[in-house]
Amino acid sequence: MTDRYAVVGNPVAHSKSPWIHAQFARQTGQAIEYGAILAPIDGFSRAVAEFRAAGGRGANVTLPFKQDAFRFAARSSERARAAQAVNTLVLDADVPYGDNTDGAGLIGDLQRNLGYDLAGKRVLLMGAGGAAQGVVAPLLEAGPSRLAIANRTARKALELAGRFPPATGGSYAELAGEQFDLVINATSAGLSDELPSLPRAIFAKGALAYDMVYGRDTPFLRVAREAGAAASDGLGMLVEQAAESFFIWRGVHPETAPVLAALRGA
Ligand code: NDP
Repeated sequence: MTDRYAVVGNPVAHSKSPWIHAQFARQTGQAIEYGAILAPIDGFSRAVAEFRAAGGRGANVTLPFKQDAFRFAARSSERARAAQAVNTLVLDADVPYGDNTDGAGLIGDLQRNLGYDLAGKRVLLMGAGGAAQGVVAPLLEAGPSRLAIANRTARKALELAGRFPPATGGSYAELAGEQFDLVINATSAGLSDELPSLPRAIFAKGALAYDMVYGRDTPFLRVAREAGAAASDGLGMLVEQAAESFFIWRGVHPETAPVLAALRGA
């Protein structure tokens, strides 16, 4: 029987993960089938347990279930525990195992695809949800000179930063007067064409603005370009985090560049 995997989310119909994993499988000669599961907002655990009972070997987890997935996993990796969020579940072990490849995906995209060196840079991370939680530790490991976290609900940014000293956290307004070399938008604001209330002069000369949202030009990227910053969406992160999940399940590293190029061309 073909090994089965799936992405679980709500909504999930828009997900590019089935297509990406199909490309990885073809490229590496792995016989897998990868689908999409729409789980009810209050029914994540049941949906995944059913998939596992039916022979599902692994799952990716997307919005809004990454914290549910962390609770679902009986064992988890150090990076998933640091993030308290899981985007990759291994279901063919004795007990469900959770990992988080979002951070590796972001860093991989920044360093390999965009040639961006984080060392010594002033970095602002916008948002404090599942995606933001997954990238704080890997960002700090890359050696920025400063990491600030800002969120609409400032308390959450403060709590998140508190878990990762020397990161600092607070509201967008508190950043007035500061400038950053790299501004990462880990909010979902762009999905509804909204822009978090970022101070206008936030982008340092030569800054890079990175929006984890992909497949659309967000107000954040437009404002960044107007301010003279370089701008990138999160498509490369999506492909890189998927490749890391594929490696966890199959033990093979797929090549990401042709898959990203095909997605960009599409
Ligand atoms: P969550 O729902 O966990 O968190 C959403 C975050 O966005 C919160 O910090 C929330 O702030 C903030 N937010 C939402 N709307 C607004 C708004 N109008 N103004 C300001 N802040 C807002 O989502 P995730 O963290 O899981 O995902 C965030 C985004 O990142 C999604 O769009 C997702 O698609 C994308 N993503 C992309 C990946 C990739 O590979 N490219 C990987 C993972 C995620 P508050 O706390 O105040 O509600």
